[in-house]
Amino acid sequence: MIDSKLPGVGTTIFTRMSALANECGAINLSQGFPDFDAPQALLDAMSRHVLAGHNQYAPMAGLLSLREQIAAQLLLHRDVNCDPDSEITVVPGATEGIYCAVMACVARGDEVIVLDPCYDSYEPAITLAGGRAVHIPLALHSFGVDWQRVADAITPRTRLIMVNSPHNPCGVALSLEDMLQLQDLVERHNLLLISDEVYEHLVFDGRQHHSALQFPALRQRCFALFSFGKTYSVTGWKTGYCVAPPALTAELRKVHQFVCFVAVTPVQLAVADFMAAAPDYPATLAAFYQHKRDTFCSALRGSRFRVTPSAGTYFQLLDYSAISDAPDRELAEDWTRRHGIASIPISVFYEEPPQQHYLRFCFAKTDEVLLQVAERLCEI
Ligand code: PMP
Ligand code: GLN
Repeated sequence: MIDSKLPGVGTTIFTRMSALANECGAINLSQGFPDFDAPQALLDAMSRHVLAGHNQYAPMAGLLSLREQIAAQLLLHRDVNCDPDSEITVVPGATEGIYCAVMACVARGDEVIVLDPCYDSYEPAITLAGGRAVHIPLALHSFGVDWQRVADAITPRTRLIMVNSPHNPCGVALSLEDMLQLQDLVERHNLLLISDEVYEHLVFDGRQHHSALQFPALRQRCFALFSFGKTYSVTGWKTGYCVAPPALTAELRKVHQFVCFVAVTPVQLAVADFMAAAPDYPATLAAFYQHKRDTFCSALRGSRFRVTPSAGTYFQLLDYSAISDAPDRELAEDWTRRHGIASIPISVFYEEPPQQHYLRFCFAKTDEVLLQVAERLCEI
Protein backbone atom coordinates (compact mmCIF):
# COMPACT_ATOMS: atom_id res chain seq x y z
CA MET A 1 0.00 0.00 0.00
CA ILE A 2 1.33 3.49 0.78
CA ASP A 3 3.02 5.05 3.81
CA SER A 4 0.49 7.44 5.28
CA LYS A 5 1.56 11.07 5.35
CA LEU A 6 -0.93 11.64 8.17
CA PRO A 7 -0.66 8.43 10.21
CA GLY A 8 -2.30 9.87 13.33
CA VAL A 9 -5.27 11.35 11.50
CA GLY A 10 -8.68 9.71 11.20
CA THR A 11 -12.09 11.05 10.17
CA THR A 12 -12.79 14.47 11.70
CA ILE A 13 -14.85 14.79 14.85
CA PHE A 14 -17.35 16.96 12.92
CA THR A 15 -18.01 14.20 10.39
CA ARG A 16 -18.21 11.55 13.08
CA MET A 17 -20.56 13.42 15.41
CA SER A 18 -22.89 14.57 12.61
CA ALA A 19 -23.06 10.99 11.31
CA LEU A 20 -23.84 9.68 14.80
CA ALA A 21 -26.50 12.39 15.28
CA ASN A 22 -28.17 11.34 12.02
CA GLU A 23 -27.95 7.66 12.91
CA CYS A 24 -29.56 8.28 16.31
CA GLY A 25 -32.05 10.92 15.16
CA ALA A 26 -30.44 13.27 17.69
CA ILE A 27 -30.61 17.06 17.62
CA ASN A 28 -27.30 18.04 16.08
CA LEU A 29 -25.52 20.79 17.98
CA SER A 30 -22.14 19.27 17.13
CA GLN A 31 -20.80 20.37 13.72
CA GLY A 32 -21.15 24.14 13.39
CA PHE A 33 -23.81 25.19 10.89
CA PRO A 34 -27.06 27.16 11.08
CA ASP A 35 -30.36 25.25 10.93
CA PHE A 36 -31.98 28.32 9.33
CA ASP A 37 -31.51 29.70 5.86
CA ALA A 38 -29.45 32.54 4.47
CA PRO A 39 -31.09 35.91 3.66
CA GLN A 40 -33.65 35.42 0.88
CA ALA A 41 -31.98 38.04 -1.35
CA LEU A 42 -28.76 36.01 -1.29
CA LEU A 43 -30.56 32.78 -2.19
CA ASP A 44 -32.42 34.57 -4.99
CA ALA A 45 -29.16 36.01 -6.34
CA MET A 46 -27.59 32.54 -6.37
CA SER A 47 -30.42 30.97 -8.37
CA ARG A 48 -30.56 33.99 -10.68
CA HIS A 49 -26.89 33.64 -11.57
CA VAL A 50 -27.06 29.87 -12.03
CA LEU A 51 -30.09 30.20 -14.32
CA ALA A 52 -28.47 33.08 -16.21
CA GLY A 53 -25.70 30.68 -17.21
CA HIS A 54 -22.88 31.99 -15.04
CA ASN A 55 -21.55 28.50 -14.51
CA GLN A 56 -18.02 28.50 -15.92
CA TYR A 57 -14.64 29.24 -14.31
CA ALA A 58 -14.10 32.56 -12.56
CA PRO A 59 -10.66 34.22 -12.63
CA MET A 60 -8.15 32.35 -10.45
CA ALA A 61 -7.97 35.02 -7.74
CA GLY A 62 -11.73 35.47 -7.66
CA LEU A 63 -14.15 37.77 -9.48
CA LEU A 64 -12.91 41.32 -9.32
CA SER A 65 -16.43 42.59 -8.52
CA LEU A 66 -16.44 40.43 -5.37
CA ARG A 67 -12.90 41.42 -4.38
CA GLU A 68 -13.95 45.07 -4.71
CA GLN A 69 -16.90 44.47 -2.39
CA ILE A 70 -14.59 42.75 0.10
CA ALA A 71 -12.21 45.73 0.02
CA ALA A 72 -15.14 48.12 0.53
CA GLN A 73 -16.36 46.13 3.54
CA LEU A 74 -12.90 45.92 5.10
CA LEU A 75 -12.80 49.70 4.92
CA LEU A 76 -16.35 50.08 6.24
CA HIS A 77 -16.18 47.60 9.12
CA ARG A 78 -12.46 47.60 10.01
CA ASP A 79 -11.07 50.83 8.59
CA VAL A 80 -8.52 48.73 6.70
CA ASN A 81 -7.33 49.55 3.18
CA CYS A 82 -6.62 46.63 0.83
CA ASP A 83 -5.89 46.42 -2.85
CA PRO A 84 -8.47 44.01 -4.38
CA ASP A 85 -6.09 43.10 -7.16
CA SER A 86 -2.92 42.23 -5.29
CA GLU A 87 -4.05 41.56 -1.70
CA ILE A 88 -7.39 39.73 -1.79
CA THR A 89 -7.89 36.16 -2.99
CA VAL A 90 -11.29 34.46 -3.02
CA VAL A 91 -10.92 30.87 -1.86
CA PRO A 92 -13.23 27.84 -1.81
CA GLY A 93 -13.62 27.97 1.96
CA ALA A 94 -11.32 29.29 4.67
CA THR A 95 -10.05 25.73 5.12
CA GLU A 96 -8.54 25.80 1.63
CA GLY A 97 -7.14 29.28 2.22
CA ILE A 98 -5.49 28.16 5.46
CA TYR A 99 -4.03 25.10 3.76
CA CYS A 100 -2.62 27.17 0.89
CA ALA A 101 -1.19 29.78 3.28
CA VAL A 102 0.56 27.08 5.31
CA MET A 103 1.90 25.40 2.16
CA ALA A 104 3.10 28.75 0.87
CA CYS A 105 5.19 29.64 3.89
CA VAL A 106 6.16 26.52 5.85
CA ALA A 107 9.25 24.60 4.71
CA ARG A 108 10.68 21.27 5.86
CA GLY A 109 11.83 21.51 9.47
CA ASP A 110 10.02 24.79 10.22
CA GLU A 111 8.20 25.11 13.52
CA VAL A 112 4.70 26.56 13.69
CA ILE A 113 3.18 27.71 16.98
CA VAL A 114 -0.49 26.82 17.46
CA LEU A 115 -2.66 27.45 20.51
CA ASP A 116 -4.56 24.46 21.89
CA PRO A 117 -7.44 23.75 21.62
CA CYS A 118 -6.64 24.33 17.97
CA TYR A 119 -8.92 24.05 14.93
CA ASP A 120 -8.47 20.62 13.46
CA SER A 121 -7.25 21.53 9.97
CA TYR A 122 -4.13 23.41 11.11
CA GLU A 123 -1.79 20.63 12.14
CA PRO A 124 -2.37 18.32 9.14
CA ALA A 125 -1.52 21.24 6.84
CA ILE A 126 1.67 21.95 8.81
CA THR A 127 2.63 18.26 8.72
CA LEU A 128 2.00 17.95 4.97
CA ALA A 129 4.21 21.02 4.43
CA GLY A 130 7.01 19.22 6.31
CA GLY A 131 6.79 21.47 9.36
CA ARG A 132 6.21 20.70 13.00
CA ALA A 133 3.35 22.09 15.10
CA VAL A 134 4.43 23.37 18.50
CA HIS A 135 1.37 23.33 20.75
CA ILE A 136 0.88 25.92 23.49
CA PRO A 137 -2.25 25.34 25.58
CA LEU A 138 -4.63 28.19 26.41
CA ALA A 139 -5.14 28.71 30.15
CA LEU A 140 -7.42 26.25 31.93
CA HIS A 141 -11.03 27.51 32.12
CA SER A 142 -10.36 31.15 31.10
CA PHE A 143 -8.81 30.03 27.76
CA GLY A 144 -6.55 33.09 27.77
CA VAL A 145 -3.17 33.15 25.99
CA ASP A 146 -0.02 32.98 28.11
CA TRP A 147 2.16 35.17 25.87
CA GLN A 148 5.25 34.47 27.96
CA ARG A 149 4.80 30.79 27.23
CA VAL A 150 4.41 31.58 23.54
CA ALA A 151 7.57 33.71 23.63
CA ASP A 152 9.48 30.91 25.38
CA ALA A 153 8.49 28.46 22.62
CA ILE A 154 10.03 30.57 19.85
CA THR A 155 13.26 29.12 18.44
CA PRO A 156 15.37 29.99 15.39
CA ARG A 157 13.24 27.42 13.49
CA THR A 158 9.93 29.14 14.29
CA ARG A 159 8.42 30.46 11.08
CA LEU A 160 4.76 31.06 11.76
CA ILE A 161 2.14 31.56 14.48
CA MET A 162 -1.49 30.59 13.87
CA VAL A 163 -4.24 32.27 15.88
CA ASN A 164 -8.02 32.10 15.76
CA SER A 165 -10.23 34.83 17.18
CA PRO A 166 -13.12 34.67 17.95
CA HIS A 167 -12.09 31.20 18.98
CA ASN A 168 -13.56 27.87 17.98
CA PRO A 169 -14.26 25.86 20.16
CA CYS A 170 -13.79 28.05 23.27
CA GLY A 171 -15.87 31.11 22.32
CA VAL A 172 -13.22 33.54 23.61
CA ALA A 173 -11.80 36.54 21.72
CA LEU A 174 -8.36 38.14 21.70
CA SER A 175 -8.29 41.54 23.44
CA LEU A 176 -6.45 44.64 22.28
CA GLU A 177 -3.71 43.82 24.79
CA ASP A 178 -3.42 40.29 23.30
CA MET A 179 -3.06 41.73 19.81
CA LEU A 180 -0.32 44.11 20.94
CA GLN A 181 1.57 41.25 22.60
CA LEU A 182 1.19 39.17 19.45
CA GLN A 183 2.39 42.05 17.31
CA ASP A 184 5.41 42.55 19.53
CA LEU A 185 6.42 38.87 19.26
CA VAL A 186 5.84 38.58 15.53
CA GLU A 187 7.81 41.74 14.83
CA ARG A 188 10.65 41.00 17.26
CA HIS A 189 11.20 37.49 15.90
CA ASN A 190 10.36 38.25 12.28
CA LEU A 191 7.58 35.62 12.12
CA LEU A 192 4.64 35.17 9.80
CA LEU A 193 1.06 35.01 11.06
CA ILE A 194 -2.06 33.17 9.96
CA SER A 195 -5.03 34.89 11.55
CA ASP A 196 -8.21 32.83 11.29
CA GLU A 197 -11.01 35.36 11.68
CA VAL A 198 -13.93 33.41 10.22
CA TYR A 199 -16.19 34.40 13.15
CA GLU A 200 -15.15 38.09 12.99
CA HIS A 201 -18.71 39.46 13.11
CA LEU A 202 -19.89 37.19 15.94
CA VAL A 203 -18.68 39.06 19.04
CA PHE A 204 -20.93 39.83 21.97
CA ASP A 205 -21.64 42.18 24.87
CA GLY A 206 -20.36 45.26 23.04
CA ARG A 207 -16.93 43.79 22.30
CA GLN A 208 -15.00 44.85 19.20
CA HIS A 209 -13.33 42.31 16.97
CA HIS A 210 -9.62 43.09 16.61
CA SER A 211 -8.46 42.04 13.16
CA ALA A 212 -4.76 41.36 12.64
CA LEU A 213 -5.15 43.59 9.57
CA GLN A 214 -5.60 46.60 11.88
CA PHE A 215 -2.11 46.28 13.40
CA PRO A 216 0.59 47.63 11.07
CA ALA A 217 3.34 45.15 11.92
CA LEU A 218 0.89 42.23 11.72
CA ARG A 219 -0.63 43.49 8.49
CA GLN A 220 2.79 43.23 6.81
CA ARG A 221 3.27 39.55 7.70
CA CYS A 222 -0.18 38.13 7.94
CA PHE A 223 -2.56 35.94 5.99
CA ALA A 224 -6.01 36.80 7.37
CA LEU A 225 -8.78 34.29 6.58
CA PHE A 226 -12.52 34.92 6.41
CA SER A 227 -15.52 32.77 5.49
CA PHE A 228 -18.79 33.76 3.82
CA GLY A 229 -20.15 30.47 5.18
CA LYS A 230 -20.26 31.96 8.67
CA THR A 231 -21.22 35.54 7.82
CA TYR A 232 -24.03 34.68 5.42
CA SER A 233 -25.20 31.36 6.92
CA VAL A 234 -24.15 29.32 3.88
CA THR A 235 -21.50 26.93 5.23
CA GLY A 236 -22.29 24.57 2.34
CA TRP A 237 -21.28 27.18 -0.24
CA LYS A 238 -17.67 26.84 0.96
CA THR A 239 -16.43 30.27 -0.06
CA GLY A 240 -14.23 32.76 1.76
CA TYR A 241 -11.22 34.95 1.20
CA CYS A 242 -7.66 35.59 2.23
CA VAL A 243 -6.14 39.04 2.72
CA ALA A 244 -2.34 39.29 2.67
CA PRO A 245 0.28 41.74 1.42
CA PRO A 246 1.15 41.43 -2.31
CA ALA A 247 4.27 39.27 -1.86
CA LEU A 248 2.45 36.80 0.41
CA THR A 249 -0.65 36.84 -1.79
CA ALA A 250 1.48 35.97 -4.82
CA GLU A 251 2.85 32.90 -3.03
CA LEU A 252 -0.59 31.91 -1.73
CA ARG A 253 -1.98 32.05 -5.27
CA LYS A 254 0.81 29.84 -6.61
CA VAL A 255 -0.46 27.10 -4.31
CA HIS A 256 -4.17 27.90 -4.58
CA GLN A 257 -4.15 27.66 -8.38
CA PHE A 258 -3.06 24.02 -8.14
CA VAL A 259 -5.09 22.97 -5.10
CA CYS A 260 -8.45 24.19 -6.32
CA PHE A 261 -7.68 26.81 -8.98
CA VAL A 262 -10.82 28.90 -8.28
CA ALA A 263 -13.84 29.28 -6.05
CA VAL A 264 -17.35 28.60 -7.40
CA THR A 265 -18.56 31.26 -9.88
CA PRO A 266 -22.29 31.75 -9.13
CA VAL A 267 -21.56 31.85 -5.38
CA GLN A 268 -19.11 34.69 -5.96
CA LEU A 269 -21.61 36.61 -8.09
CA ALA A 270 -24.40 36.12 -5.56
CA VAL A 271 -22.28 37.19 -2.59
CA ALA A 272 -21.00 40.25 -4.50
CA ASP A 273 -24.60 41.31 -5.25
CA PHE A 274 -25.66 40.80 -1.66
CA MET A 275 -22.68 42.68 -0.24
CA ALA A 276 -23.36 45.61 -2.56
CA ALA A 277 -27.06 45.71 -1.64
CA ALA A 278 -26.66 45.13 2.13
CA PRO A 279 -23.23 46.36 3.25
CA ASP A 280 -24.41 46.70 6.86
CA TYR A 281 -25.75 43.14 7.11
CA PRO A 282 -22.65 41.78 8.96
CA ALA A 283 -23.16 44.38 11.69
CA THR A 284 -26.56 42.80 12.50
CA LEU A 285 -25.04 39.42 13.34
CA ALA A 286 -23.69 40.22 16.80
CA ALA A 287 -27.14 41.07 18.21
CA PHE A 288 -28.77 38.16 16.37
CA TYR A 289 -26.36 35.57 17.76
CA GLN A 290 -26.10 37.20 21.19
CA HIS A 291 -29.86 36.68 21.51
CA LYS A 292 -29.39 33.00 20.64
CA ARG A 293 -26.54 32.61 23.10
CA ASP A 294 -28.66 34.23 25.82
CA THR A 295 -31.72 32.13 25.00
CA PHE A 296 -29.63 28.97 25.34
CA CYS A 297 -27.70 30.05 28.46
CA SER A 298 -30.80 31.39 30.29
CA ALA A 299 -32.70 28.19 29.61
CA LEU A 300 -29.84 26.27 31.24
CA ARG A 301 -30.10 28.18 34.51
CA GLY A 302 -31.76 25.31 36.32
CA SER A 303 -29.22 22.77 35.05
CA ARG A 304 -26.10 21.33 36.66
CA PHE A 305 -23.78 22.76 34.01
CA ARG A 306 -21.36 25.57 34.73
CA VAL A 307 -21.87 28.14 32.00
CA THR A 308 -19.62 31.05 31.08
CA PRO A 309 -21.37 32.80 28.20
CA SER A 310 -19.31 32.88 25.01
CA ALA A 311 -17.64 36.15 24.05
CA GLY A 312 -17.85 35.26 20.36
CA THR A 313 -18.53 32.57 17.66
CA TYR A 314 -21.73 30.51 17.61
CA PHE A 315 -20.39 27.96 20.07
CA GLN A 316 -21.08 27.61 23.78
CA LEU A 317 -18.93 25.46 26.05
CA LEU A 318 -20.69 23.74 28.93
CA ASP A 319 -18.67 22.50 31.90
CA TYR A 320 -20.22 19.19 32.97
CA SER A 321 -17.87 18.45 35.87
CA ALA A 322 -20.74 18.56 38.39
CA ILE A 323 -22.52 15.81 36.43
CA SER A 324 -19.85 13.36 35.37
CA ASP A 325 -16.12 12.80 35.31
CA ALA A 326 -16.31 10.69 32.15
CA PRO A 327 -14.01 11.73 29.29
CA ASP A 328 -15.70 14.21 26.98
CA ARG A 329 -15.47 11.95 23.89
CA GLU A 330 -17.28 9.16 25.66
CA LEU A 331 -19.91 11.50 27.03
CA ALA A 332 -20.57 13.24 23.72
CA GLU A 333 -21.31 9.86 22.13
CA ASP A 334 -23.31 8.60 25.09
CA TRP A 335 -25.52 11.69 25.24
CA THR A 336 -26.13 11.57 21.49
CA ARG A 337 -27.46 8.03 21.87
CA ARG A 338 -29.15 8.38 25.26
CA HIS A 339 -30.43 11.97 25.35
CA GLY A 340 -30.64 12.69 21.61
CA ILE A 341 -28.26 15.67 21.75
CA ALA A 342 -25.03 15.73 19.74
CA SER A 343 -22.16 17.98 20.82
CA ILE A 344 -18.41 18.20 20.24
CA PRO A 345 -15.83 17.00 22.79
CA ILE A 346 -13.05 19.60 22.92
CA SER A 347 -10.23 17.28 24.04
CA VAL A 348 -9.75 16.27 20.39
CA PHE A 349 -8.37 19.75 19.66
CA TYR A 350 -5.46 19.35 22.10
CA GLU A 351 -2.08 17.68 21.75
CA GLU A 352 -2.28 16.89 25.48
CA PRO A 353 -5.85 17.26 26.73
CA PRO A 354 -5.89 18.80 30.22
CA GLN A 355 -8.07 17.59 33.10
CA GLN A 356 -11.26 19.45 32.26
CA HIS A 357 -14.82 18.56 31.33
CA TYR A 358 -16.29 20.60 28.50
CA LEU A 359 -18.60 19.89 25.61
CA ARG A 360 -19.18 22.37 22.78
CA PHE A 361 -22.72 23.17 21.59
CA CYS A 362 -23.50 25.14 18.42
CA PHE A 363 -26.22 27.72 19.08
CA ALA A 364 -26.76 28.72 15.43
CA LYS A 365 -30.17 27.10 15.73
CA THR A 366 -33.78 28.26 15.90
CA ASP A 367 -34.91 29.36 19.36
CA GLU A 368 -37.31 26.40 19.50
CA VAL A 369 -34.45 23.95 19.01
CA LEU A 370 -32.28 25.72 21.58
CA LEU A 371 -35.08 25.59 24.16
CA GLN A 372 -35.77 21.93 23.42
CA VAL A 373 -32.08 21.06 23.84
CA ALA A 374 -31.82 23.10 27.04
CA GLU A 375 -34.86 21.31 28.46
CA ARG A 376 -33.21 17.94 27.86
CA LEU A 377 -29.89 19.16 29.29
CA CYS A 378 -31.65 20.42 32.44
CA GLU A 379 -32.82 16.85 33.09
CA ILE A 380 -29.32 15.37 33.01
N1 PMP B 1 -11.56 28.05 10.90
C1 PMP B 1 -12.41 27.85 11.90
C2 PMP B 1 -12.00 28.21 13.28
C3 PMP B 1 -13.67 27.32 11.66
O1 PMP B 1 -14.51 27.09 12.66
C4 PMP B 1 -14.02 27.01 10.35
C5 PMP B 1 -15.41 26.49 10.11
N2 PMP B 1 -15.58 25.37 9.50
C6 PMP B 1 -13.10 27.21 9.32
C7 PMP B 1 -11.87 27.74 9.63
C8 PMP B 1 -13.34 26.83 7.90
O2 PMP B 1 -14.27 27.61 7.23
P1 PMP B 1 -14.81 27.18 5.80
O3 PMP B 1 -16.05 26.39 6.01
O4 PMP B 1 -15.03 28.48 5.09
O5 PMP B 1 -13.74 26.37 5.14
N1 GLN C 1 -15.93 24.52 11.62
C1 GLN C 1 -17.09 23.74 11.85
C2 GLN C 1 -17.17 23.44 13.35
O1 GLN C 1 -16.30 23.82 14.08
C3 GLN C 1 -17.11 22.43 11.10
C4 GLN C 1 -16.35 22.34 9.85
C5 GLN C 1 -16.22 20.91 9.40
O2 GLN C 1 -17.15 20.14 9.48
N2 GLN C 1 -15.05 20.57 8.96
O3 GLN C 1 -18.08 22.82 13.78
